[in-house]
Amino acid sequence: MSEEKTKTALLREQLMNEPKTVKELPAEEIAKADAFCEGYKTFLNASPVEREAVAYSLAAAKEKGFTEYDPNAQYKPGDKVYYVNRGKAIALAVIGKNGVKNGARLAIAHIDSPRIDLKPNPLYEANNLALFKTHYYGGLKKYQWTAIPLTLHGVIVKLDGTRVEVKWGDEENESCFCVTDLLPHLAQEQVTKPMAKAFTGEDLNVLVGSRPYAEAEDEKELVKLNVMSILNEKYGITEGDFLSAELCLVPSFKAKDIGFDRSMIGGYGHDDKVCAYPALMAALDAEAVESTCITYLTDKEEIGSDGNTGMQSDFLRYFIYDLAKQDGVEGYRALSKSTCLSADVNAAFDPTYASAFEAKNSCYINGGVVISKYTGHGGKYDTSDASAEYMGAVRALLENNNIQWQIGELGRVDLGGGGTIAKYVANMNVDVIDLGVPVLSMHAPFEIVSKTDVYMAYRAFYEFFVQ
Ligand code: MN
Ligand code: MN
Repeated sequence: MSEEKTKTALLREQLMNEPKTVKELPAEEIAKADAFCEGYKTFLNASPVEREAVAYSLAAAKEKGFTEYDPNAQYKPGDKVYYVNRGKAIALAVIGKNGVKNGARLAIAHIDSPRIDLKPNPLYEANNLALFKTHYYGGLKKYQWTAIPLTLHGVIVKLDGTRVEVKWGDEENESCFCVTDLLPHLAQEQVTKPMAKAFTGEDLNVLVGSRPYAEAEDEKELVKLNVMSILNEKYGITEGDFLSAELCLVPSFKAKDIGFDRSMIGGYGHDDKVCAYPALMAALDAEAVESTCITYLTDKEEIGSDGNTGMQSDFLRYFIYDLAKQDGVEGYRALSKSTCLSADVNAAFDPTYASAFEAKNSCYINGGVVISKYTGHGGKYDTSDASAEYMGAVRALLENNNIQWQIGELGRVDLGGGGTIAKYVANMNVDVIDLGVPVLSMHAPFEIVSKTDVYMAYRAFYEFFVQ
């Protein structure tokens, strides 16, 4: 057979769009991706909740010479600052040669993930078992959170103002917690119910103890008393202190490589730490940038970005206003020239649930970093639909730097939908588009991503900053 390509083949090559596959990636690039993901797994394991992700990012930034932002200081090109919002969100800025005069480059990811929060009055006893009442956080398929080991993370603020950090259940020899489920033998009624009714939010009660307080003189709520006595000994708290606490239950399991080929990573909270980590590393690695680059890791995305640590807060806007003032420009002028990669995940095509997707406009595991021009639902409601011009600029950035990428819509039209922080950034008069990593089993306690896709996200944020 002739090696020469036919005219048709050449024409096809010239005119048709064939996205780059993982097959075309050089072995060195795959090795770099695997190495990068070792760091990612460490970050993921250390950061199940947003406060921990901030603490990790802060320590990493300090190590790279970032200093705390001082609104009264005058910064020069090359300076690196961090600015923490209430311990739950963090901005990392590398000051550019032009400051923010020509706008800032923003990479924004969220560091909160779906989980189970404790109610203000959580602890109760029923039939000699101690349990926690909970209120789930973000979009959960509730049944997925039953019968798996859970650990407790968060903070408690006592009446005297002392702050106690809680972390229970991570270590191999530590106890953990669990939401119970009904045995199949007695689930004849449960299994015929629609999924939303088979297991409700009020059923997410967490088992936390079963032994009575040993030295009791009466019989009243002794299992609950025993749990309180253990917590009092360990953290010095009383039951009332639950009222001023933020306590979350997250899966106990650590990130693990997936597949015989170790090509993927399974773990809790890929949405959206799998974008937060590459964006963090891009800020830590960026040197000698033209425009000021800011990685912002925000909170509350999973519950609508409301609140003072969410993307709808003015925290980032005011930070950019401050930087603009230093550069002698109006804040709103700086914003109008700013550009943003909204760093969030998209749903990877799953062959088992193929009918939920539209194959030509879905993103795929190993397809590279995914650009979502818009998200939303029901005829592009509730989204920022990026302009052809900005899409064109980002596409060129990726192509010119040989970054493997793909386009992705979230599932087929009118099946459901979702949103990201992109629309809140767009509302500040900033050009923005979603760029992130494809995820299988999104919002499940154990989500899956591809290692090369994670690395391509890092390369995209890095080139976005330094170009
Ligand atoms: Mn997300
Ligand atoms: Mn999400």
